[in-house]
Parts: sequence; C-alpha cells; structure tokens
Amino acid sequence: MQFLKTTTNKYLFLISVLGVLTFIAFNDFQINSNFEWIITFALAGAILLLNHYPILLPPKGNSLSMDSSIFLACLFLLGLDLTLAVLLINSILFAFTQRKIIWWKHIFNFSSYVLMITSTYYVFTLMGGTIGSIHINNFVPYLISLSTYFAMNVIFVGLFFILAAAESFESVFRELIKEALAPYLSTLMLSLVLAILMSSKSLFGLLLFTCIAFLLSLAFKQHFHLFKKVSEKANKDFLTGLNNHGYFKEILEKELTSAKESDQPLCVVLLDIDDFKKYNDLYGHIQGDHLLQEFGSLVKTASEAENYTVARYGGEEFSILMPNTNRQKANSFMNELRKKTNDTYYKGVESLPYGCLSFSAGIAECEKETYNISELLNKADQAMYAAKDQGKNLVQIYNQHSEYSAQRSLSLEKELDEAEQQLRIFLSKDVYTYRHSKRVYQYAVDFSRLLALSEYERKTLILGALIHDIGKIEIPRDILNKKGKLEPHEWEIMKKHVTWGKEIISTNKKLEDLIPLVELHHERFDGNGYPYGLKGKSIPKLARILCIIDSFDAMTTERPYQKTKTFKEAIIELRTCSGKQFDPQFVEPFIAMIKQLDDTGEILEDEPLVVNS
Ligand code: GH3
Ligand code: MG
Ligand code: MG
Repeated sequence: MQFLKTTTNKYLFLISVLGVLTFIAFNDFQINSNFEWIITFALAGAILLLNHYPILLPPKGNSLSMDSSIFLACLFLLGLDLTLAVLLINSILFAFTQRKIIWWKHIFNFSSYVLMITSTYYVFTLMGGTIGSIHINNFVPYLISLSTYFAMNVIFVGLFFILAAAESFESVFRELIKEALAPYLSTLMLSLVLAILMSSKSLFGLLLFTCIAFLLSLAFKQHFHLFKKVSEKANKDFLTGLNNHGYFKEILEKELTSAKESDQPLCVVLLDIDDFKKYNDLYGHIQGDHLLQEFGSLVKTASEAENYTVARYGGEEFSILMPNTNRQKANSFMNELRKKTNDTYYKGVESLPYGCLSFSAGIAECEKETYNISELLNKADQAMYAAKDQGKNLVQIYNQHSEYSAQRSLSLEKELDEAEQQLRIFLSKDVYTYRHSKRVYQYAVDFSRLLALSEYERKTLILGALIHDIGKIEIPRDILNKKGKLEPHEWEIMKKHVTWGKEIISTNKKLEDLIPLVELHHERFDGNGYPYGLKGKSIPKLARILCIIDSFDAMTTERPYQKTKTFKEAIIELRTCSGKQFDPQFVEPFIAMIKQLDDTGEILEDEPLVVNS
C-alpha cells in the first residue's frame, strides 16, 4: 500500500478501479459475426498505427493522436460493446509494444478511455441518439456527447497535472484549453467524418481515413522540426553561434526567479574586448569577425564546463550567466578566463596595447532585494566600465559603495527638474499628493545624508521619493479627493497606484532605476503589504526606507479621512510598527533625524518615547 501514499497515486488508483469495474459492468462481450471480429481488429490496428504516428504540435511538441476519432466513430456506428472490445485489444497490443511504460500507467490509460467512452455512449443514447448510421437528426446528441468526451478528457488530464505538478487549477485548465481546444475539436468532428466513410464504404473507408491521418502526421512532423530549427536560429547569434542578446535575457529572467525562490547564488558577467576598434582598424572587419568567433568559442568552452550560459551581448561584448555561483567563485573563474585569453595567440594581437587579446569584465551577484534583470545587468555594466577605467584587462565585482556607480547614473539636478515637471500635473488634480511628494522628497534629501548610502543610492532615493506617487494620476478625482473613509472597492483602486506608477515611469528609460521605489513603497517588512506581499530583505533597501518616510509624512499631515498625528505621536507609531510595517534598522535613524530637524521643541529629548523596544 506504499503506492497509495501520495494523492496523485490515490487518484490514479481510483480512476483505474472505476474504469475496470465499468468495463466489466457495462460490457456484454457480444461480438456476433466474423465480420465484426475483422472490423474490431482492423480498428484496433488503425488506432495502434495512429498512436505511433501522432500529430506533433508546436511550440512544445505536445502530441495529438487521432485514436479518439476512431473510438467515437466506432461507438456511433457499432455501439458500446464493440468499441470497448476495440479498446481492450488496442490496449493489450499497446502494452506489448510500449513495454517501457510502467504497467499501472497502461491500466490508468485504459480505464480513463473506458470511462470516457461509456459516458459518451450513455449521454448520446439518453439524448435520443440512435446507433447504426450517421444522421443529421442526431445533431444535438452528437454535440452533447462529444462535448462530454472532451470535458472528461480535459478533467482527467488536468487533475493529474494539478496533483502531480502541484500547479494551480486555473493555470492548468487555461493552458489545456488554449493548447488543445482547436486540434481536439477537430479530432472529435473527424469521428463523424470517419463514421460516414465507414458506413458507406466500411473497411475501405477506414483505410482511407487511416492513410490520411498517417500522412498528416508525417507532414506535421516535418513542420514541427522546421519550427524547432527556426526557433533555435532565432535564439542564436549569426556570427559566433552563441546565444543572442534576447535569448540571454529570457534565460536570465527565469534563472533570476528560480535563484531568488531557492535562495541560491547567481552571478551575471558582462565582458567587453579591449581595444577591439583598433584591431578592426589594423586588420579589417573580416579578420575582426574571425577573432570574435574564436574568442566566442574560447568563452563557450570554458563556460560550458561549469554549466554557465554564454551569449554575444552585442558588438564585442559577451555575457555569462552563472547559476549557483557566488561573486568570489565568479571572480576566480573570470580571472582564469582572462589569463587564458591573454595566453592564447590570435593572429595580429601582438599589435594591441597589452600585446595580447584582453577583456574587461564586470560581475554582479543577485541579492535578495535584486528587483529585476535590468538592475543586475546595469550593475554588471557599471562594474565593467570601472574595470575599463582602471586600465582594462581586469575583472571587477560590482560594489554598491563605489563611486563609479554614480558616474554613469542619473544626473540629479536635471532629473529632478524633469520629475518635478511631471509632478506638477498633480497641482490641478490633487494638491495633497503634490505637496506630500515634495515633503517626502525633502525628508529623503535629509535622511540620505544621515545614512551610509552610495552616491547612486542617494540619487535614486531622492528622485524616487519625489516621484513615488506618480501612479495616483490615474485615480479618479472622486476617489482621490473623497472626504471620509474609502469603500473597499475604492481602496482596491487606490492600491493600484503603485502598478500604474510603474507603468508610467517604465516608458522613460532614464527613470528605470526608480521602478522598485515606485512599485514597492507599500510593501511591508512583515510581508503584509502590496502589490506582492514581499517580506523583509526581499524588498529592495531603498523601498524599505521610502516606506518609512512616506508613512511618517502621511501620519503627520492633514488628510480628509484620517486624524493628523503630532510628530511625537508619529514617532511612537513608527516604533510600534517597527519590525511589522517598517524595517527596524532604519526606524531609529529616521527618528534621530526627525529629532534633529525639529526646531519647534515639540519633541523633547528626554521624554520616554520608546514603547516597544
Ligand atoms: P574599449 O577597450 O574601450 O572597449 O575599446 P574598443 O575599441 O573595444 O571599444 P569601442 O566601443 O570603441 O569599439 C568597439 C568596436 O567593435 C567598434 C566596432 O566596429 C567593433 N565591432 C562591433 N561589432 C562588430 C562585429 O560584428 N564585427 C567586427 N569585426 N567588429 C565589430
Ligand atoms: Mg563595446
Ligand atoms: Mg571594447
């Protein structure tokens, strides 16, 4: 009974038992004439052949067999007993030819067909359908019984995926219906076509149908291989045969998600050949192309030995994706590769400044709070330029505290000006949000002075603070300016401002770095925030900081539906919510800054403000 431990196996067992019992209960085992025996074996043989030559469907190569057309044609023409006999013979033959498939899967398969065929038969006859020939009068019974067959098949397959792969009900059925609906419906309709052929020309009709289905299978197979070839080509770089930029990003996206889910390290490297323009100028583009190919294959060989993915990122830049690799390991791998590159002779490289081929590379490691692949690639890019700045032929790990980050990032004054322009739109629609944003911005300027932030982080925080509520522009005036508490549905709309904000600033490439602040400033440290419910350090640091500043200003300024708190009360609230809504590491520094700024004397230093620490 070990087998019945998992829910999936219980499900397989239940269907198998139900199927076998149904087979015994509903089958009179009546095959009366030699001709019926011949037809039974001919149908079983045709199914076996068509199962062997299914129709392969792009993109994943899911296969569709025409066996259902034959079962159903048989059912409509010859009734339940004979169809079940065909199924039994076919299942035995199939089990003999496919011995690699474990026995209980054969039984499950057989049983699910028994259940589908038997239910279809009873639905058909109960709806008034008559067995024997295909007739237009039976239109409604055909329609309903074929739908039953389809629905049962989708449910059997869907439940298996849900139980075995722990996928959600909705996603499994959406995927199944999306992929299978059109081809599956055509096999159901073909059952009627086959039945017409057979009722008119018997075995010859069956032969014709089987030949057509067989040839279609061959044609689809060719089509599928062509599709595979073309999609492989679409992912490759023409010159070097490596993955191309687009495909690299696609893989990186998947790997980043899985690294974050499984808490495994992951590094991305961008490398750029040094002084390649000079090489091109000296020897021409064709020899330049050669060098790119040879260097590409060197990087590929070294990387594949470690299961790393390499791509030609563009021009003379390459990228490497290193799953399960931390920055130290990535660094030593890259330095090995650098030495190997220096030590390998390529035609003409003696004329390059180092007398050999060299590259500069930047490494960025994924962190818990890494927002997306653009952030990671951006960091690798900045580190790579830092390597160039330090004289080339160098590998540099990205370090957030390095000044180089600032050089290539936002120029604060200009960006502030632009952000301010965008923000002004609020003046007519929602003066509160405009003023709130300006105050939050001012707090961010002051607070970032106090924190040990890099120049880049400081600029990002300040700009993010100014623009964080930009998505509120999409919220209707009556909700935005409503006096009194918001209704639940209005509150849901209000919450969307973070996603709308993200969409608005995504249209401007220069503001890309602010996306995490705009989208995630309502996430809570305890995981109860929105839009994703991220928790702790999975929320980017700057978004955690902005959340404190934003909330503090919201508490202490007038809102139509909320009592304004004094600074003192707001400080108590910050402390009460420290570790719940707010990241505790920034709460006390923020309070210290507020106290410093306070010139009203409202907050007395010696008052016992601490309530929960
Ligand atoms: P640095 O060390 O700063 O990277 O200098 P560099 O000369 O390598 O970089 P720069 O960006 O100035 O020039 C890159 C050159 O790469 C310019 C371009 O002609 C060349 N290049 C880009 N793609 C190809 C290509 O497919 N084939 C060839 N032969 N050359 C290419
Ligand atoms: Mg370059
Ligand atoms: Mg270069």
